[in-house]
Amino acid sequence: MAPKPHYTPNHIPDPSYIRILDTTLRDGEQSPGAPMPAAEKLAIARQLAALGVDVIQPGFPSASSDDFNAVKAIAQEVGNAVDGDGHVPVIAGFCRCVEKDIAVAWDAVKYAKWPRLCTSIATSPIHMEHKLRKSKEQVIKIARDMVTFARSLGCVDVQFGAEDAARSDREFLYEILGVVIEAGATTVNIADTVGILMPFEMGKLIADIKANTPGIQNVIISTHCHNDLGLATANTIEGARAGARQLEVTMNGIGERAGNACLEEVVMALACKGYHVLGGLHTRINTTHILKTSKMVEECSGMHLQPHKALVGANAFVHASGIHQDGMLKHKSTYEIISPADIGLKRSTEVGIVLGRLSGRQALRKRLEELGYVLKEDQVDSVFSHFKSMAEKKKVMTCGTMGLSTTTIKLVTTNNSTHVACSIGTGAVDSAYKAINLIVKEPIKLLEYSLNSVTEGISVTSTARVVICRENYHTSTYAFNITYPTYSGIGTGMDVVVSSVEAYLVALNKLLGCKESFICAEKIQISE
Ligand code: MN
Repeated sequence: MAPKPHYTPNHIPDPSYIRILDTTLRDGEQSPGAPMPAAEKLAIARQLAALGVDVIQPGFPSASSDDFNAVKAIAQEVGNAVDGDGHVPVIAGFCRCVEKDIAVAWDAVKYAKWPRLCTSIATSPIHMEHKLRKSKEQVIKIARDMVTFARSLGCVDVQFGAEDAARSDREFLYEILGVVIEAGATTVNIADTVGILMPFEMGKLIADIKANTPGIQNVIISTHCHNDLGLATANTIEGARAGARQLEVTMNGIGERAGNACLEEVVMALACKGYHVLGGLHTRINTTHILKTSKMVEECSGMHLQPHKALVGANAFVHASGIHQDGMLKHKSTYEIISPADIGLKRSTEVGIVLGRLSGRQALRKRLEELGYVLKEDQVDSVFSHFKSMAEKKKVMTCGTMGLSTTTIKLVTTNNSTHVACSIGTGAVDSAYKAINLIVKEPIKLLEYSLNSVTEGISVTSTARVVICRENYHTSTYAFNITYPTYSGIGTGMDVVVSSVEAYLVALNKLLGCKESFICAEKIQISE
């Protein structure tokens, strides 16, 4: 039996080992329009554990009672679930350098086997002067006192975060980091909060801190990079090259503004190049869980991926041009540096040729064989005609050309009261949503509605996604003017209308917050 891995907060025995801290549920959740309820956070945290992340930062417990409860539930369950390797993820609560924040965060994470407090304060002149309105001396005192306070609660794993470290004075950084290390910090997180650094600058920053901070050899250096210039992944890798041994990332790169460094990009860059050109740097991430985690985060956050997103975008392993397809059919390494199976992607065809409305019989037959169905010629004919008509029907449905329709809808609330309403609309989904609005009686604006069409595989399910907000909030087509809270929801089912209603209700229940939840009853009647 292999020895169980032991976790020491401030020391990693293997000098090339990189800890991955996932902050999808904290910084990622700060994406505009991406708040997630506790049940979804818990489900994602379980998946992050399966992915093998070292540290899960599930939220900011003092920000709201919802976040407190989500972090506590994750600490209790995921923070004590031992995987096949004997590994348990660290559960890290985020808090400002404020006594009350730290105490509340500790109350949420202390149930985990390895609880951590991540306390953070800004160290740049611009933040200290305009945001904190404190002198350097005051900030140093607060940092020392709050790390000491965190340790005094019984927490032996305390991360100190220097917010906006990228724009901080170097000498001041060495001094404040030295002070918090002396006070008992075990990890120091160096944040490029505004995403301003070039990769070589990030490398220099980490190297300078490593060379000049008193006591730095006794703690783990961490990076936290933002993507404002599209450099978050490159900066994170440069940080690791210069000596950082914890990297803070989010799934799909979601996060404040342009987002954070992407977990999938950082991890796969290390997996592809770690042993060749990065001195053996490696993680323990089970990369075959990447795609599943990415999909889950996309659906729960409502933050859609661009089709050409590196690694996890719909087109990342699809080859369209004739020359590329010819190369792929001869040898997959001609146009692929990573096998799709490495991130858990099972393609509908061996070499990434898309199965859809325009697909031929042979492509469908190949896919059926991959699914384990070897059919006779007349059976293939029958399946093929169903496949074609379904793909066509879905297209018609998503185009909303159904004409005037009437929907009767029945909802039950969590206190078991039943409500029925009927409405007409320009299509089945429109009339269903109008009927729901009659029951819920909240002014709702539908900002986004999408339905996946049958473009890959022959699944008969459809997934609807919606984003809504309250109608009386100011809205604008310009993202930088958006000031209202938005809520997303997804629904999956055999029937387009049922999945659309489900998605709408998920978003609506989030919008209603602490008020009672509505659940769709089984009866939806549509007449056209
Ligand atoms: Mn951040």
